[in-house]
Amino acid sequence: MIFRFDIPAPKFSPPGLISRAVGFARSVTSGRASDETIAVRRRECEACPELVREADELYCGACRCPRTRWSELSRKLEFAYLRCPLGRPGFDQ
Ligand code: SF4
Repeated sequence: MIFRFDIPAPKFSPPGLISRAVGFARSVTSGRASDETIAVRRRECEACPELVREADELYCGACRCPRTRWSELSRKLEFAYLRCPLGRPGFDQ
């Protein structure tokens, strides 16, 4: 007998620990993104259902980064290299 389950596929695959560590190192050493890129990213994040607001701070709820000053979006969005778990425009793929 064969069982079938109709489990919906996840919207995205959260990055693993090593992938996050490599991405973080690459981001913090990548310099500053252009003002235009930062504006596009900010617009995408503000419309994103994964956005987390904590008091005056904004975080990505999908990247699984610890919530520190490095992962707060006002700083994080300025990294020249930055990936979005959902592959939104303005981010590296
Ligand atoms: S980085 Fe991507 S997934 Fe995270 S809040 Fe911004 S648009 Fe959403």
